[in-house]
Amino acid sequence: MTVQTSSLPVSWSLAELQALHDAPLMELVFRAASVHRQHHDPNEVQVSSLVSIKTGGCPEDCGYCPQAARYHTDIEENAMLSVEQVRTAAERAKGLGSSRLCMGAAWRNVRDDAEFEQVLELVRTVNGLDMEVCATLGMLTPNQAERLAAAGLYAYNHNLDSSEEYYKEVISTRTYADRLETIGNARKAGLTVCSGGIIGMGESTDDRLKMLLTLASLTPVPESVPINALVAVEGTPLEEQRPINIFEMVRMIAVTRIILPTTTVRLSAGRTGMTPEGQALCFLAGAGSIFAGDKLLTTPNPEAFADMELFDALGLRPTTAYAKGERPVPGVDPGPPTEKQRIKWSRPGHKIERNEAKRK
Ligand code: SF4
Repeated sequence: MTVQTSSLPVSWSLAELQALHDAPLMELVFRAASVHRQHHDPNEVQVSSLVSIKTGGCPEDCGYCPQAARYHTDIEENAMLSVEQVRTAAERAKGLGSSRLCMGAAWRNVRDDAEFEQVLELVRTVNGLDMEVCATLGMLTPNQAERLAAAGLYAYNHNLDSSEEYYKEVISTRTYADRLETIGNARKAGLTVCSGGIIGMGESTDDRLKMLLTLASLTPVPESVPINALVAVEGTPLEEQRPINIFEMVRMIAVTRIILPTTTVRLSAGRTGMTPEGQALCFLAGAGSIFAGDKLLTTPNPEAFADMELFDALGLRPTTAYAKGERPVPGVDPGPPTEKQRIKWSRPGHKIERNEAKRK
């Protein structure tokens, strides 16, 4: 099959995505690279940093996650980082070329408590450093999203992880609809959306493509789509998954690039298993961002100097902050919710055998 480089369909069917995905790799990468340079500078890659502001002890059962309290991993529950600790981490990341800082908390959902007030302060602090501020804090109510936006949050990350069908094989403590609701709440508050998934969890290619179809059906589409390769951590239900092949990652990035041409596609977790050449192929296929730092929340990541060597070798430049959007100006905090605005999230409660087997 020869892949055409023009006549992009506005909406895609699963069959069209399958044809794209399964095309000869050189054709697919050529088409993705052609789309990429129409909408992005191919020599710029955004360096983002992840800071785990609250690690471990999570009540959820995500089968890939070492931070879930129920699994036997060596992740300890830690208290929330202070404003000074996060400021130091952000300044260090900025010094190493990062223009975006993503703060992650191992929570099922945000609660309207003192820790959330501290998150708002962290957002104001990092916004003041002129970095794009992203947060990933679990499920979010409309009021919480508005408060984050008023504090100067630029993006909210909430991954779909996989297709709706396969999601039920990995997580039993939330539904796909919950995910979409939080993404909608972030969007309505004026935040940009970062949402992607993980490949290598045992899902089929169709599951990967169906996730992309769901992301492409959102209006507007996410500004940011991270594609992660599973880092199989001992003690989690997915500990025995085999690592993905680099060409699976390249194909996934290329298809994402083609169907979401203006989105920043982020080459995220799993880079430690990739050669510099493999990563270069991902950039050619349309990856426009990496996560820097020696840890991605709790899993290993290439060291910052290795990334800079790679950038030098490839002639890449790190993107400046807010290259694709306006820096949010902190505004008036609408304050905690009224009783009517409070949401009680549901617990779907189906069981996943391999998750149950790994419980404490
Ligand atoms: S992925 Fe997030 S929600 Fe799921 S167990 Fe880990 S920290 Fe909790």
